Amino acid sequence: MLCSHIKPGTTPFETLFVLEEHLGLASGLVECKSCEATYLLELIDLAGNDRAYRVTAVEPVHAHAMVHTLSRGTCDIQRAASEVQNLESRSTLLNVTISMHGSIIIGLDRVADTVEIPRDHWRTLPCDGRWLSQTPS
Ligand SMILES: [Zn+2]
Repeated sequence: MLCSHIKPGTTPFETLFVLEEHLGLASGLVECKSCEATYLLELIDLAGNDRAYRVTAVEPVHAHAMVHTLSRGTCDIQRAASEVQNLESRSTLLNVTISMHGSIIIGLDRVADTVEIPRDHWRTLPCDGRWLSQTPS
């Protein structure tokens, strides 16, 4: 479940850990500033400065454990990837995508059961603005 603080026109997130950057956050762990719910955001589409993310609800205890692990010593990309996999196996991908302009939420797209949220890594997705253009704002 997405907490009630995640709404268009707000900047609810505090970044806990950036896993990957591509002209801004590509994937990372964020926390709701109001209730400390934690989420894994992963880029699925890009258009100009707007980006869309798939959202995984993560238990705060798991999110903080991962941040702790990755903050210690050298963080290689392989290790980060296996940590993410581990986290995803214990978490729930939400039926919603979040569109953001910078740190401001510009849209929430509740996805119908018939629509597949892209599960691939953003580098292998088209990222051509198609998903963003379908998002009602
Ligand atoms: Zn919240």
